[in-house]
Amino acid sequence: MSMQPKPWPEVPAETARITKSAFRKGALPIRVRDELGFWCADGDFAAAYGVRGAPGISPAQLAMVTVLQFTENLTDRQAADAVRGRLDWKYCLGLALADEGFDFTVLSEFRARLVADGLESKIFDALLDRLIARGLLGAGERQRTDSTHVLAAIRALNRLELAGETVRAALEALAAAAPDWLTGAIDSTWQARYAARVETMRLPASESKRAALAIEYGRDGYRLLAAVTAAGAPGWLRELPAVEILRRVWVQQYYRQIDEHGERVIRRDAEHGLPPGRLRLISPYDPDARYSEKRGAGWLGYKVHLSETCPAPASDGTRPAPNLLTCVATTPAAVPDVAMTEAIHDRLAEHGLPPGEHLVDAGYTSTELLLAARARGITLLGPLSANPSRQARTGGYTLDAFHIDWDHQQVTCPQGQRSSSWTPCTQHGRDAIVVRFPTPACAPCPVRDRCTTATHRGRQLTLNPRPVHEALTAARVEQTSDAWRERYKARAGVEGTIAQATHVTGVRHARYTGLAKTRLEHLLAATAVNLIRLDAWWTDKPLDRTRTRQLQRLDFDLAA
Ligand code: SF4
Repeated sequence: MSMQPKPWPEVPAETARITKSAFRKGALPIRVRDELGFWCADGDFAAAYGVRGAPGISPAQLAMVTVLQFTENLTDRQAADAVRGRLDWKYCLGLALADEGFDFTVLSEFRARLVADGLESKIFDALLDRLIARGLLGAGERQRTDSTHVLAAIRALNRLELAGETVRAALEALAAAAPDWLTGAIDSTWQARYAARVETMRLPASESKRAALAIEYGRDGYRLLAAVTAAGAPGWLRELPAVEILRRVWVQQYYRQIDEHGERVIRRDAEHGLPPGRLRLISPYDPDARYSEKRGAGWLGYKVHLSETCPAPASDGTRPAPNLLTCVATTPAAVPDVAMTEAIHDRLAEHGLPPGEHLVDAGYTSTELLLAARARGITLLGPLSANPSRQARTGGYTLDAFHIDWDHQQVTCPQGQRSSSWTPCTQHGRDAIVVRFPTPACAPCPVRDRCTTATHRGRQLTLNPRPVHEALTAARVEQTSDAWRERYKARAGVEGTIAQATHVTGVRHARYTGLAKTRLEHLLAATAVNLIRLDAWWTDKPLDRTRTRQLQRLDFDLAA
């Protein structure tokens, strides 16, 4: 299929006349067209289309349909119906009233093209560019970021189910791709064992039988991998995604041992190399999804980080621009928030939207990140994590109780004793300084219990390099001030953005499988949220009503 770039179509006169008469108060698609005009061009998607073949539907129009779809959380079928039957959508897309639209499958093909050619962010970026050009977004604004969990579009499987279902998924893929080859590679017992999805089967309840079944699945998996990689098998079979996932799951879940009884298949456990959660595959149908936990609750899937502007009210009373999403980052669930702070700053800088002040929670901060942000001209405003040391938890002598003489590389303890060594080193890839106090001084110390648990050595301290230490100390002091708390209050509003994204566009449950498609979904949802917010701003409507329950309305003062 080819793409011949066309200008954004004018609204046909008949469509405009009937739509304006039917929607006297307007509607979001109509206002988006009237206010923003042409913000997404066919040429933006040229990389996803060939130059030969029949011309397809305008990708800019498909992009617009896809975003409108997310503003109402519609399925592909519902969105295609809306193109065919809704006046406001026809007006937005510049279609004639008699336009029959397209088959709903065109939308999934369009998304697949975007993902295949790395164009996931094109639509979101195009809207940001238009908003920057309109003066609604710019560098140096106050912004805030938070993340929320996203449930992958997969079933939760235990380890036994994962093993059985992974073999079954590989067999299904091989049966579809090379049925003749598979008939010669397995016998009919496999068909009986793997005909139904494993999670729908009644698996044995006893531990011994479950363990035996796990080993049986393990042997089958190894046999299938051996058949696929055997000399006579077509080479492309091993490149099937389901076969590659089988190989990866088997590396993680099983190993083989040869002893006097022959070769044994052994299921891994925690002591025998079961990989950590951030690496472990949890389903054969979504190799990017991971398990993670937050505040005691676990989930399977992904995490989305949303950044938005939150301008302070203008002192002259002028109406501030709406809060608009500026960055969307999707990661597997096990990636910690702190790993994303710099990535978010990079992306914001790429768009020409670096924040002046960036409000985040403790998950995104560290002293190093605070300094790195400062070097970019960004004030990273978020609580630094509490001192995790035993002394801090038990009310003992923390580092704050010691006096550090950086110039003479000496530390004095609360009892007036001086350190005996000062050793620069690298710990966990970071520069540090290890300071020790002399054992003869600490051994008879009357407050030793408050200082150290070491019985044969004196107190040992680990210092950050001087700039990091001083920045950390200053930040901890600043965070206790009322002025800092007042500035930080604005971060809480990002919770409402998370709620809007999850409730209105449905990002809590991934529609698609795989990180790339889930990332595209989140970028489309963020584009839709921006349009919803712009529409509320254009029409001067609050984004959400504050609901007051009947019970809350009771006035006990009057009744008294
Ligand atoms: S234990 Fe050692 S370092 Fe700690 S207060 Fe006593 S003398 Fe000072």
